[in-house]
Amino acid sequence: MSEDSSPTGIVPVLVPMPAERPYSYAVPPGMRVVPGSIVRVPLGPREVAGIVWDTPTDRVDARKLRPISEVFDCPPIEEKARRFVDWVAAWTLSAPGMVARMFLRAPAAFDPEPLLDGLRWAGGEPERLTEARARVMELARDGMAWTRSGLAHAAGASLTVIDGLKAQGVFETVMIPPQPVVAAPDPSFATPELSGDQQLAADTLRKRAAGGFSVSLLDGVTGSGKTEVYFEAIAAAIEAGRQVLVLVPEIALTAAFLDRFHDRFGAKPAEWHSDLSPRMRERVWRQVAEGRVRVVAGARSALFLPFRDLGLIVVDEEHDPAYKQEDRVFYSARDMAVVRGHIGSFPVVLASATPSVESRVNAQQGRYERVVLSGRFAEAALPDLRAIDMRRDPPARGGFLSPLLLREMEKTVSRGEQALLFLNRRGYAPLTLCRVCGHRFQCPDCSSWLVEHRFRGQLVCHHCAHTEPRPEACPECGTLDHLVACGPGIERIAEEVVSHFPDARTIMLSSDMMGGVKRLRLELDAIAKGEADIVIGTQLVAKGHNFPNMTLVGVVDADLGLANGDPRAAERTFQLLSQVTGRAGRTGRKSLGLIQTYQPAHPVMRAIVSGDAESFYEQEIAERERAHLPPFGRLAAIIVSAATRAEAEGHARGLRRAAPAASDISVLGPAEAPLSLIAGRYRFRLLVHGDKRSDMQSFLRALLSAGPKQRGSVRVQVDVDPQSF
Ligand code: ADP
Ligand code: ZN
Repeated sequence: MSEDSSPTGIVPVLVPMPAERPYSYAVPPGMRVVPGSIVRVPLGPREVAGIVWDTPTDRVDARKLRPISEVFDCPPIEEKARRFVDWVAAWTLSAPGMVARMFLRAPAAFDPEPLLDGLRWAGGEPERLTEARARVMELARDGMAWTRSGLAHAAGASLTVIDGLKAQGVFETVMIPPQPVVAAPDPSFATPELSGDQQLAADTLRKRAAGGFSVSLLDGVTGSGKTEVYFEAIAAAIEAGRQVLVLVPEIALTAAFLDRFHDRFGAKPAEWHSDLSPRMRERVWRQVAEGRVRVVAGARSALFLPFRDLGLIVVDEEHDPAYKQEDRVFYSARDMAVVRGHIGSFPVVLASATPSVESRVNAQQGRYERVVLSGRFAEAALPDLRAIDMRRDPPARGGFLSPLLLREMEKTVSRGEQALLFLNRRGYAPLTLCRVCGHRFQCPDCSSWLVEHRFRGQLVCHHCAHTEPRPEACPECGTLDHLVACGPGIERIAEEVVSHFPDARTIMLSSDMMGGVKRLRLELDAIAKGEADIVIGTQLVAKGHNFPNMTLVGVVDADLGLANGDPRAAERTFQLLSQVTGRAGRTGRKSLGLIQTYQPAHPVMRAIVSGDAESFYEQEIAERERAHLPPFGRLAAIIVSAATRAEAEGHARGLRRAAPAASDISVLGPAEAPLSLIAGRYRFRLLVHGDKRSDMQSFLRALLSAGPKQRGSVRVQVDVDPQSF
């Protein structure tokens, strides 16, 4: 198909549906569409937005074709983005329409932003010149068009002043284009002075930024200045007139990142995440498509924005599990960022203090270029890290903080510095039981305990959000006041902290806090300004923040992530513990990280305490290689869920029997999935294990098409490269 309107008058359109191919539509006479055009088409009884595609559809009877209703006045989705959709669909075994759907997340953006009512000096002078009027006139005489409120604001005058002048005929009304969501970043706004190490790294990245596809792994301890360094790659891309995407794992929490970007480039990047207002989403989407927004900082879904000329992607904290989407289309935004770079022939930078084993191996094998920053910037030193053996230094009865940790907290607070206690568990206690009859509170719809949230007086399921009030009496035996909380969540740690330090200012932070993102940003800001003595938090506080006054980090339960039997558990725990202890000592002061553990000899604890990340990675890599686990082998999970256990298991067995014969790929299971019941659906899992070079996708396609058809409540999901295995 040419870039002109289709000569046949029939075009394929990818609609946001789980269909394998685009559907055919007729182009009405006089309408012009090109591949990538966003169009409105009838679909059953509805109309939907779709993208004109350029791959063939099934043969259709021309008489049954329905016409395209409308072509939106919107830049077409570029060829490279369309190939990206096809690639992601093929890799993840998703319907291309479901991937395209991720590009179509801002429906009102397909129509141009309306022009704004504006005012411009008509040449006359005010009848009487007050001070406010003089200020307005000074601006207006330049002949520029202003919005009414924009002019009032800039001149420091009230709207009445503007309206008064307008009534005198000083202004004419004009239509002005919509305002940009963010100002243009200036690559030479504030160029930093880099250390020798940083300069070398920045030079490498700048060189790569000027070339075609490449992947750089920017690897440096927390506080080494990775952000400072990749800003130089961004500057190079902006200088070259290209667009830039920075992916961050928790955009809602990165107000500090936006400020730093502003300090360096004199303007903020546009944000893209689920917490944006619909109106802002639409404006950002549109302006990205028009090429007016130069830099976007966003969560993983920003990878599916319609960039016009994307020239660089930075994936910050590339190891972070938040980059994996496990819903509808199962994809890793980090891996797909590399794919988007490859298809678009532009460089990708992956940054992390604790890179994933996958990226380390890719660097070792020469596919990625490893760029290393070896120490912390300036006089900042990494914290002194020690394990507390909880068998030797147990907490007081009913407590969870060891005497040693409490003593160090005391010292820290009395020096006027900050302490952080980290526990990756929301709520008060992970399990509540009746001391009399042993009844345990379980979620009615999931195979998991209900977590007590004492401040809200509720029991909550962390998998399906089922909530019930915490009763006074046991629902089983009726005994009053004999329910006990087992184990700690951060609320319980906060309670313990308050009992030991009644005068300290404490802040508790977790993702389910009342007040949402705004409140979180305020609290993080307060911590950075030193307005808290003790912070208690979940992984939210572990990531990327700069708390200059924090000199002690205590990990309440370092063993928490190691117990689940997942081969990736050691890597994850290592990353989390390095990141959270890395919050301490960001400025010159001496700092300490204390890690409470019952297994001080565990390789993860040894690696953290000795600071010997290299041997840890070597061991992990060797173990993966021995077991042919990723990245030395390939894995995919097939998850079958259904309303009854029998249906789920039966279907999974049927799929297993349908597996084609292959010498290099084997199928394990079905077994109950790690969470065997979620939200009332029973789950079974097949694990497909192949060699590095196996054609996993063809194997999976053959298996799924030979297997039983999905019937009744059965649902099958495919997770290529699963997070846990
Ligand atoms: P990382 O991303 O590796 O954790 P950052 O880029 O956040 O490290 O840098 C840590 C701290 O050191 C930040 O406060 C940053 O502003 C400061 N910093 C790093 N490099 C420089 C530099 N060259 N000049 C001034 N400040 C720097
Ligand atoms: Zn539940």
